[in-house]
Amino acid sequence: MNEVKRPRKPLMFYYAIVLLALILFNALVMPFLTNPGVIEVDYGTFIKMTEDKQIAEVMLEDNKIIYKGTDGKFYKTGLMEDPELTDRLYKSGAKFSSQIIEQMSPILSILLSWVLPMVLIIGVGQYFSKKLMENAGGGAGSMMFGMGKSNAKVYVKSTSGIKFDDVAGEDEAKEILSEIVDFLENPKKYESIGAKMPKGALLVGPPGTGKTLLAKAVAGEANVPFFSISGSEFVEMFVGMGAAKVRDLFKQANEKAPCIVFIDEVDAIGGKRDGRIGGNDEREQTLNQLLTEMDGFDGSKGVVILAATNRPESLDPALLRPGRFDRRVPVELPDLQGREAILKVHAKKVQMQPNIDFGAVARAAAGASGAELANIVNEAALRAVRDGRKLVTQADLEESVEVIIAGYQKKNRVLSDKEKMVVAYHEIGHALVAAKQSESAPVHKITIIPRTNGALGYTMQVEENEHFLLTKEELENKIATFTGGRAAESLIFNQITTGASNDIEQATRLARAMITRYGMSDEFGMVAMEQLTNQYLGGDTTLACSAETANHIDAVVRNLINTQYHKAYHILKDNANQLHALAKYLYEHETITGDEFMDILHKTEAELPQIAEGEGY
Ligand code: ADP
Ligand code: MG
Ligand code: ZN
Repeated sequence: MNEVKRPRKPLMFYYAIVLLALILFNALVMPFLTNPGVIEVDYGTFIKMTEDKQIAEVMLEDNKIIYKGTDGKFYKTGLMEDPELTDRLYKSGAKFSSQIIEQMSPILSILLSWVLPMVLIIGVGQYFSKKLMENAGGGAGSMMFGMGKSNAKVYVKSTSGIKFDDVAGEDEAKEILSEIVDFLENPKKYESIGAKMPKGALLVGPPGTGKTLLAKAVAGEANVPFFSISGSEFVEMFVGMGAAKVRDLFKQANEKAPCIVFIDEVDAIGGKRDGRIGGNDEREQTLNQLLTEMDGFDGSKGVVILAATNRPESLDPALLRPGRFDRRVPVELPDLQGREAILKVHAKKVQMQPNIDFGAVARAAAGASGAELANIVNEAALRAVRDGRKLVTQADLEESVEVIIAGYQKKNRVLSDKEKMVVAYHEIGHALVAAKQSESAPVHKITIIPRTNGALGYTMQVEENEHFLLTKEELENKIATFTGGRAAESLIFNQITTGASNDIEQATRLARAMITRYGMSDEFGMVAMEQLTNQYLGGDTTLACSAETANHIDAVVRNLINTQYHKAYHILKDNANQLHALAKYLYEHETITGDEFMDILHKTEAELPQIAEGEGY
């Protein structure tokens, strides 16, 4: 591979890149070039100098503090969360200043900020294109931008106040983490018996379940400094900066031990390495540096590394080896009890009417994460404010569940009468099929008020007792319920609409899973043909079978859904009276609760004997 013909791009394209690079250079590198002779010190030194009254002038910037010592030298340090800072500085007699470092001459400044980088960019560009053509790969660029270190920003976040009590549910996670807290509080106890604490623990779970919150709570409980950085912050545009930040982070942590280092979204750097050249070079270096640091430091000093991810399967196995993140802390979506507890934690922060039934709200919010539940409480409070009330009511909360889960209510979007009728039958179709199959969950509430997320109607099904082991029959019933909407449309209007697309998707996914993952088909038996690759984000699956088998799976899936569709169709046909009565009620009221639904169901049953017509479908 000697000559690589590159496609010609318009000249403008290159100009744009150079301009962008210049702007970045000016923003990131110039401050260091124009502040020559500034000594970088750590925050502790700065505080000490403040206390010793060795500071003459000080200037606070967005993310750093530049100051002139009484010795005439210039210093700088990163800015940290420190509420009493100004107070202390004031007491030390330091003068506050807006500009303490003299500007360079304008010509030199222009030279440095525009001409020098231009030369550099062109030079580096040529260097890299040559390297690429030679197919040399590797981290050659790291030396060129070794200045990443001074840009590393690491914060000690104030976590005081956040305790385990602020994290509701998640008892298993808290139990595992409380051992770390104990270790940070009494390291001697562990040392004397010869027990080694794990260096790192990995918090694993779907988004919004409180991983970040838990990490802060550990620091809060143990009352130690909390260094926090997000994986995505490591991945910088200059090669080598990420690795420098990791080095810096651990250096600071070692000085402040005992403490906690928290790496959020660790998958951003800790993804699997794949030996490809270019592209992920930077990330790979950062990861290598992280591994080196983790191996290098002495665990008994009391530095505990916590990391969080919602994509555990994408992590590089090297990260999970003993001595690294060898402890895994599952942080799962809350169950019914957990949801109720989380609602209560957040409800404490707002003015609630007494006697709120949090259990009912939690029941309706099945599947919601902690973050969503916090959002529900806040949404309810906003609703109370909008209505000019002083207290949040049960209705506020229940309405918010729907807002968060099903999109905002949008009453001004008008459905035509015919559309409304079709949607009413469609939704009752789902509910009636669910109700008639004994093992399906009863209906909580149905509404045909359109939501912004595009759903025209919305049937909220509530599991009375959450359970995780589903039988084949229950799954089949679920599929029948999904198809119930379409079946009702077809039965009553003899036409089908686009309204069932989401139902079809869900039914298909469930049917596929039954066959390819749960081993519930006679044809294939207990053979796993699909693997879940992304457990927490949507559950993508990969197929592991031949194309022929894949075709056959499709046929079996079709068959399964068809059978359930027919079942649903017949349930509706056999209960046509109830279908009509319920749809009429929903059409008129736009909303029907589970109790009203059951009332009508039973009344129609008693009053009107079923009219059995000939088999139609
Ligand atoms: P993650 O890091 O897992 O994505 P976060 O910790 O950022 O989730 O959670 C976001 C917010 O959701 C928290 O600040 C908190 O208000 C709320 N929250 C999430 N889980 C819980 C929980 N178990 N108990 C109380 N609040 C929670
Ligand atoms: Mg988080
Ligand atoms: Zn539907």
